[in-house]
Amino acid sequence: MHEISLCESLLKVIEDSASQQNFSQVKTVWLELGRFSCVEPDAMRFSFDVVMKGTLADGARLELLELPARVWCSKCLKDVEIQQRYDACPSCGDYRLQISGGEEMRIKELEVV
Ligand SMILES: [Zn+2]
Repeated sequence: MHEISLCESLLKVIEDSASQQNFSQVKTVWLELGRFSCVEPDAMRFSFDVVMKGTLADGARLELLELPARVWCSKCLKDVEIQQRYDACPSCGDYRLQISGGEEMRIKELEVV
């Protein structure tokens, strides 16, 4: 389950921002997830509770926000958004798309005390 290690790196980021911004407790974490990040939301919430136990984010709420997948279409010469990995370009129907985003995970916002 790679969600555990994702949550561990998440905790690292939270702890870093806590020492920079001087807060001691986190109430809510808004986490943006790319559509291609292969994260299972239920597993993510479960791992979050386990990893955050006894830390400054103990009992915090995890809000997951899914980001649309962005791909580069070499025919349209622009970024387009698709719903699934093997979708065609919504503008021209071409399948030769380069994935340029959708695998990222980042904290959008922290509600702190
Ligand atoms: Zn296209």
